[in-house]
Amino acid sequence: MGPPRHAYIHVPFCRHRCGYCDFTLVAGRDDLVDRYFAALARELERVSRLPAVAAGDVGLDLDTLYLGGGTPSHLGPAGLRRLFSLLHQRLHPVVGAEVTVEANPLDVTPDFVAAAADCGVTRVSLGGQSLDATTLRALDRDHAPDDVRRAAGLLLADGFGVSLDLMTAAPGQSLADVERDLETAVSLGPQHVSVYCLTWEKGTSFESQRRKGLRQPAEEALEGRMFEAAIERLEAGGYEHYEVSNFAKPGARCRHNEAYWDCRPWEAFGPGAARFDGRTRITNHRATTTWMNKILAGDDFSGDVDAMTPENAARERVVVGLRRRDGIDREAFATASGFALDALAGGAIARWTSQGLAIDDGRLVRLTRAGLLVSDGLWAEILKADRMPSTRPVA
Ligand code: SF4
Repeated sequence: MGPPRHAYIHVPFCRHRCGYCDFTLVAGRDDLVDRYFAALARELERVSRLPAVAAGDVGLDLDTLYLGGGTPSHLGPAGLRRLFSLLHQRLHPVVGAEVTVEANPLDVTPDFVAAAADCGVTRVSLGGQSLDATTLRALDRDHAPDDVRRAAGLLLADGFGVSLDLMTAAPGQSLADVERDLETAVSLGPQHVSVYCLTWEKGTSFESQRRKGLRQPAEEALEGRMFEAAIERLEAGGYEHYEVSNFAKPGARCRHNEAYWDCRPWEAFGPGAARFDGRTRITNHRATTTWMNKILAGDDFSGDVDAMTPENAARERVVVGLRRRDGIDREAFATASGFALDALAGGAIARWTSQGLAIDDGRLVRLTRAGLLVSDGLWAEILKADRMPSTRPVA
C-alpha cells in the first residue's frame, strides 16, 4: 500500500461551546493557540518517519486535505496563513486537490476569503445549521441567518466550493421550519449540503437539560419526516443524495469523505484526530491540553489504538458502503476486503430486501430511501455497537 493521499487536521478552537457539542475543542482559550502550533509542528514531523514515505522525502502528496474542528476559521485570516505555511512544509496538495476548511459563518470576512484563496483552499464547509433565528438560538449558535447568507455569498462569488451544514430535530423546530431552511439553503446555491439530525450526547449541556426535563428531543416520527423532506427538497433542487447525510450537485461530492468511506488510508494530526493505515486506527489523545503537553514533552500522545481484525475491517466496510447511495458491488467488495459480502451480511441483506429496505440485483446491494431513513438502526446487525464509525458533523 502506498503512502496516504488524504490528511485531516484538527483545529480545536471555538469562540464558545454550543450546548449540543461534545467534540474535542477548547472554547474561549485563544491563549493556547501558540502552544497548539508548536505541538502541531512537532506532530507533523511524523510524516518523514511514515514507513510508506520514500527515504529522503519529507512530505506527503495529497489528493485531499481537510481542516476540521473545532472551528478552523476561528484562527482568522492571519492564523489561517500561519497554519498553511506550517502544513505546507510536510503536506503537499497536488494540482487539482480538494482542500477544505470548516468555517463559522461569522468568521467569513473578505480578508478571510482572501487568505483562504492564497492558501490554496478550494472548498469551505459552512457550519450554518439553520437559516432561522429561533432555531439558531435554540441550538445555542452564535451566528444569525444573515451571517450564513453573507458568508455563502462571499465564498461563492469568489469561486469556492461551498458545503452548507443543516441540522434537523433542533429543540422546538417544526417540519415547516425545516422546509423553510431547505428552501433558503437551495436558494443560496451551495454545491454541497450536509443534513444532520441533532443527537443528544452524554456530557453536553443539552443532554443534562434533557435529563432535568428542561429540553425535549423531537419525536422519532417527526425526525423521519424532516429527513424525508430534506431528501425530497434537495433532490428536487438538483442535489444527488450520495450518502445518508450528504447531498451534492453533479461533480461536487466531498472527495475527502469518499476516501474515508472507501476505507483508503489517511493521515490525521491534532487533538482527537484519528488516522488509519488500512488496518489500524490510531486516535490522538482527545484532550487538547494533554495532547499538547505530551507531544511537547516527547511522550506518546496516542489515545486509542484500534488494530482491527480483517473481519472487523470488512464489517465496517459494509456499513460505510451501505450508507452510500452507490451501495456495494459484491465483486469490488471481495477484492478490497478479502471477504464475501454474503458471508458477513447475507442474512441481514436478504431480510432488508424482503422488507423493502434494500435492493439486491445479485451484483449490487444498496439501501432504498426507506432503508436510509432507518439505517442507524440497521448497523448493529453488521457491527458490534462499540465499533460504529462516527458520522456526526464537525463545526
Ligand atoms: S458545534 Fe461547531 S462551533 Fe459549536 S462548539 Fe462544536 S465545533 Fe464549535
